[in-house]
Amino acid sequence: MKKLSSLLAMLLVLVFAFTGCGGSGSSDSKEAESTTGAVAESGIPETLIVGTNAEFPPFEFVNDNGDYDGFDIALMQAICDKIGCKMEVNNMEFKSLLGALQMDSIDVIAAGMTATEERKESVDFTESYYEAKQVIIVKKDSNVASFADLNDKKIGVQEGTTGDLYVTPEEDGALVEKAEIKRFKKGVDAVMDLKNGGVDAVVIDKNPAKEFVNGNDDLMIVEDDAAIENYAFAVAKGNTELAEAINNALTELKADGTYDSLIKEYINE
Ligand code: GLN
Repeated sequence: MKKLSSLLAMLLVLVFAFTGCGGSGSSDSKEAESTTGAVAESGIPETLIVGTNAEFPPFEFVNDNGDYDGFDIALMQAICDKIGCKMEVNNMEFKSLLGALQMDSIDVIAAGMTATEERKESVDFTESYYEAKQVIIVKKDSNVASFADLNDKKIGVQEGTTGDLYVTPEEDGALVEKAEIKRFKKGVDAVMDLKNGGVDAVVIDKNPAKEFVNGNDDLMIVEDDAAIENYAFAVAKGNTELAEAINNALTELKADGTYDSLIKEYINE
């Protein structure tokens, strides 16, 4: 028995020696991991893992060939070309993106994400790359003409978005005092529910709203300037190296005309 336990002890010593368990090796292994990209704590990985929710045209969607496409994807690819990294897209629910960035399973969020004060507590944002706005989609016979008119209505939103925050009475900065909120994983499903009479209105970003309403003669968009916001890319808190590289690339892409030609190609207002 004694022999067996000393053999076990020896084995344990060997295991610890080989795996580097026990604490002292952790900084080395972090450094080794950072070259793989997804788990990098800071800096610019060889392959940049871009988190998105490809349900948000014209900013991100799956095109007819089954590829991720859209303004954000194309702009991020141009940024990667400038920085000199490869790009990989990781598609997930919008509300999972911030957590994924904090867990280091993605390097950057490119998802028409509004740079809000609340989100700034958990991630860092690059400079803004687009000025956006929340709008209201209603049926053409509706008398809703502003956010104030949404009181006591049934409102559809995409879960976890700023549209969700603006109409949820308990949230800071809410534009509605009392309403019933229905939350959807995809904006397009909220719009389908509006068509089917499940909700009275949908609050969502203006450009996707235009895409979703397009071809639906029964729907219209109501604009209210109360909810103007700015999209930015998000990086892990403290990853200033990546944020700066993206900002520098953005400046170059604006100067060389690439940014404008992508706006023309995808948004063209
Ligand atoms: N701009 C909105 C937000 O940041 C919606 C983004 C989206 O649905 N992809 O919450």
